[in-house]
Amino acid sequence: MANTDTQSILVVGSGMSGLTAAIEAAEAGYDTYIVEKNPYLGGRVAQFHHYFPKLCPPYCGLEINFRRIKQNPRVRFFTMAEVENISGEEGNFDVTIRLEPRYVNEKCTCCGKCAEDCTMEIENAFNYGMDKIKTAYLPHDMAYPMRYILDPALVKSDEAQKVKEACPYDAIELDMSPKTMELKVGSIVWATGWQPYDANKLDTYGFGQYPDVITNVMMERLASWSGPTQGKIVRPSDGEAPKTIAFVQCAGSRDENHLPFCSGICCLASMKQATYVREQYPDTKIYIFFIDIRATDRLEDFYNRVKEDENIQFFKGKVAKITQNGEGKDLILRVEDTTTEELHEVYADLVVLATGMQPNTSDTPLPIEIPYDDYGFMASQNTKPGIYAAGCVRTPTFVSEAVQDGTAAALKAIQSVVRR
Ligand SMILES: Cc1cc2nc3c(=O)[nH]c(=O)nc-3n(C[C@H](O)[C@H](O)[C@H](O)COP(=O)(O)OP(=O)(O)OC[C@H]3O[C@@H](n4cnc5c(N)ncnc54)[C@H](O)[C@@H]3O)c2cc1C
Repeated sequence: MANTDTQSILVVGSGMSGLTAAIEAAEAGYDTYIVEKNPYLGGRVAQFHHYFPKLCPPYCGLEINFRRIKQNPRVRFFTMAEVENISGEEGNFDVTIRLEPRYVNEKCTCCGKCAEDCTMEIENAFNYGMDKIKTAYLPHDMAYPMRYILDPALVKSDEAQKVKEACPYDAIELDMSPKTMELKVGSIVWATGWQPYDANKLDTYGFGQYPDVITNVMMERLASWSGPTQGKIVRPSDGEAPKTIAFVQCAGSRDENHLPFCSGICCLASMKQATYVREQYPDTKIYIFFIDIRATDRLEDFYNRVKEDENIQFFKGKVAKITQNGEGKDLILRVEDTTTEELHEVYADLVVLATGMQPNTSDTPLPIEIPYDDYGFMASQNTKPGIYAAGCVRTPTFVSEAVQDGTAAALKAIQSVVRR
């Protein structure tokens, strides 16, 4: 039997923390709504090649969660959706959801005929702009829900009608418009996660100026079979195999001018990415420039394994500046060895900036007053009666911690509706 509205739980964000919270609450017998801004579920991990420390593909875990959602009528989800307003109180919240148009309905079979007849292209946001996609597109190869989407630029263009007529299933609706929807829920889990710190703000590192300076999230896409190079790690400037790769740790982290905190993830992410490189190139030289290596608990074993590779050099030093070698493509990193205080110039032909994690609440706060910490994260899990934080919106976490946090938030949300 369905719960009453005020026993329902709203989960905002469908990364590992939000998905977990929603599924756990639903499997405990509570009706759950997921509201997700992207046109697909899964959050940032959907964009990763592998997970550390086991180096398995994130889609294994995501697929299991999607199956649990498909099998459970208590979970309903809305993609391309955001919470516009929250009023009321614990046990009786009124929530307004804004839904952006997808222009493609549930009749879509993903046959791809719309894309075949479409010539307009846009930057591929899933691949962080490293390639282009048609304006009639599937968000990514493993997207759930598996349904195409039309970009508004296409819908407004002369080509829209032709693309609509190419669909054999009558799945394209050019007159879809934004909608709002009202929900009554008893409690809310806020799990809107993180975004990479903007590398354009690191003005001495040449990101945006030198194409072979990329970020760690771009490296995940470069290594992925569904990425812009079908998984081949190459230099964006010329498609050549890199001979020397430099990972620059704390790019904008532990820095009063940028993110003053340590995300606790980036060292392990760079080590993981060094294994991607080694899998493809047995001889490529890899530098990891670090201030301190953060690999605690059992993750230290992973660090020790990576260190065994003689061609991976962990270099304790802060990179001050990155420039390009005249007409050539080599990048020069000026680094101070912090143990000897000597200055070095190191050449590399691909640089990966290990940028940290910034909470999405720093640019999209909740539409209701709650406390934040000094860095824009939600200040605690019990942020306000009936509203609970989960995952990286509360603090940077690994995936395993995001799952634990999602489960804890689900329990809090259930206790909240039961109390009423
Ligand atoms: C380079 C890098 C590599 C990493 N590799 C690993 C690894 O190998 N292993 C590991 O354990 N951890 C890894 N991590 C950490 C991992 O990314 C996080 O643990 C995980 O993403 C946390 O999930 P989350 O649900 O909290 O947030 P997210 O994954 O950020 O999910 C949040 C969701 O909320 C949605 N959202 C955002 N704003 C709104 C809004 N206003 N309304 C509705 N929806 C919204 C987003 O679209 C997204 O779907 C890595 C991190 C980095 C930076």
